[in-house]
Amino acid sequence: MQDQINNLSKLAKDKHKENKTFFTKLKKKPPKQLDYIMQELHEAEFKKTDCLECANCCKTTGPLFTDKDITRIAKHFKMKPHQFTEQFLRLDEENDYVLQSVPCTFLGADNYCSIYEVRPKACREFPHTDRKKFQQISNLTLKNVAICPAAYNIVEAMKARIK
Ligand code: SF4
Ligand code: SF4
Repeated sequence: MQDQINNLSKLAKDKHKENKTFFTKLKKKPPKQLDYIMQELHEAEFKKTDCLECANCCKTTGPLFTDKDITRIAKHFKMKPHQFTEQFLRLDEENDYVLQSVPCTFLGADNYCSIYEVRPKACREFPHTDRKKFQQISNLTLKNVAICPAAYNIVEAMKARIK
């Protein structure tokens, strides 16, 4: 898997035009069974992909932290929400709370997340490939295929399945 992760940015760049054309078509005319197809492709991919061998999302990008995430994680650390944000987060250009730096401070050397049970919603849902109405997040997916080998493989499988 490490080889694919190392080459992912180039692989994604090479496929960018093709992926963009595919998603433009998908948005215009999504198949009726798209939610079902995505569920199937997502499950098949994550049966063979072990996130603990990867953690590239945690190493290279970070989640947005919602107010609910902050309250829940701060409580886990027995901190006040404002103490948690001061210590670990910053506001980005869009005024969203994000990590101060990557790799994520909660990621262990063994690729385990030290706050797994209370991790942000965005971490739980990444790379969003089992999301309903998947065609609505095509711009995000075009970016995620350069970060996440599973998302890359799922998009390749989508293109083979949906003509
Ligand atoms: S979600 Fe994707 S990038 Fe994150 S650990 Fe799993 S395979 Fe890697
Ligand atoms: S909170 Fe956990 S799952 Fe989310 S980026 Fe950090 S280490 Fe990864």
